[in-house]
Amino acid sequence: MIVLFGESIRFFDTTLRDGEQTPGVSLTPAGKLEIATHLADVGVHVIEAGSAAASVGERESIRSIADAGLAAECCTYVRALPGDIDLAADAGADSVHLVVPVSDLHIAKKLRKTREQVSQMAWSAVEYAKERGLIVEFSGEDASRADQDFLAEVFREGVERGADRLCFCDTVGLLTPERAAAIVPPLLFAPLSIHCHDDLGFGLATTVAALRAGATCAHVTVNGLGERAGNTSLEELVMALEVLYGVDTGIKTEELYPLSTHVARLTGVPLATNKPIVGEMAFTHESGIHAHGVMRDASTYEPLRPERVGRRRRIVLGKHSGSTAVEAALNDMGYAPDGTQLKEIVARIKRLGDAGMRITDADIMAIADTVMEIEFTPCIELRQFTIVSGSNAMPTASVTMLVRGDEITGAAVGTGPVDAAIRALQRSVADVGSVRLDEYSVDAITGGTDALVDVSVKLSRNGKTVTSRGARTDIIMASVEAVIAGMNRLLREEHEDRSQDSDRSAAA
Ligand code: MN
Repeated sequence: MIVLFGESIRFFDTTLRDGEQTPGVSLTPAGKLEIATHLADVGVHVIEAGSAAASVGERESIRSIADAGLAAECCTYVRALPGDIDLAADAGADSVHLVVPVSDLHIAKKLRKTREQVSQMAWSAVEYAKERGLIVEFSGEDASRADQDFLAEVFREGVERGADRLCFCDTVGLLTPERAAAIVPPLLFAPLSIHCHDDLGFGLATTVAALRAGATCAHVTVNGLGERAGNTSLEELVMALEVLYGVDTGIKTEELYPLSTHVARLTGVPLATNKPIVGEMAFTHESGIHAHGVMRDASTYEPLRPERVGRRRRIVLGKHSGSTAVEAALNDMGYAPDGTQLKEIVARIKRLGDAGMRITDADIMAIADTVMEIEFTPCIELRQFTIVSGSNAMPTASVTMLVRGDEITGAAVGTGPVDAAIRALQRSVADVGSVRLDEYSVDAITGGTDALVDVSVKLSRNGKTVTSRGARTDIIMASVEAVIAGMNRLLREEHEDRSQDSDRSAAA
């Protein structure tokens, strides 16, 4: 493996600034502090906490992150304006990311100024920030479309005036890896950062090329959040450097997935299921050949071990599944089918898949029970269910169930009728065991308000998880059906043995 990186690579995370500029994203100061703390724990070197000039809330966030005693440097975005620099210094930031437009397009169209005016403003701002005791990362905005000789002059003089570091911003994602390799070396007047956007899907490749050409710091965001198509993502860059280039980044890679889900939850931006490293499907296998392969030797179809980024491999069953995967899943659920039974179970799963069904654990258990002639007595039965909801009422659900023969009534309020209903169910079975709802998703199978609604849930209890579903035209009843189906499977675990005894084998 050829390693062509210079000194160790630094990570400048801008999830809380460029990432927060993702349309629709807005974090509270408390949320920002939570993410900053997690970022520092993971090992990034610089956290760009926000723009000091943007709002009172931003300054509050910067202040709380700067005061939190994190191991990372607390940086804030500023324009080349003394007022911005004062706000940054007063908020307690360690450093400023001082951004100056350098392309003629930005200088003329956006600022309506000349190159001369902009450079003078920029250099004075650098001097002023140094006077205020700040570390200065001096950044050229839209640098990839700038006259590179002009950019070099702006950077060279900026360093003369006191800038500690420089940053090349490919603001609209137009740089290629080849150009980055050529552009970086003449700009190394001070440690250089590279800031790339992913508009054409080149963000990661260009970042790596710039690092190989002499840049020593990469600007990144968690989950690749950021303006438009986003920035180079932290998790992809770290793993690309570690796996493909053998670099020890010093980042706690096993925290990358927890960090990703944390950020997804707080920003409300869902991840594409096929996103590298952190997408739901990144370590999920369904196809028979692949599942069989990874069970024998994970490296057959996995470029890296999921545990390395804090994840676990998932095998899902569907029409592409082979008997090895089905048998492993069944064993996991406590079933031990013989060869003939296994063949029949696989055939039935494939038929459901061919019919376009997404197959849940509860479906598989039901198939196994039928094929293996195992009697399944649900321990929960719904007796009655009422929901009250409206403009003047807190959504309230009451439910009566037979739980292992005892009639139990439970009631709960919730943020909406579905939430109230699920809480009432959880409360009713609380004596038997606490069941947690981990995932809830709804699909309308047909259009219109009379659509058939398909609710899928993932429930867990004592480390065991089960997926199940309900399909009805009534979304609340579909949810109740899905949760009860899952609870019945989870609660069954303890009081039934599904390994085949000899009697049953003989009978089957
Ligand atoms: Mn940017």
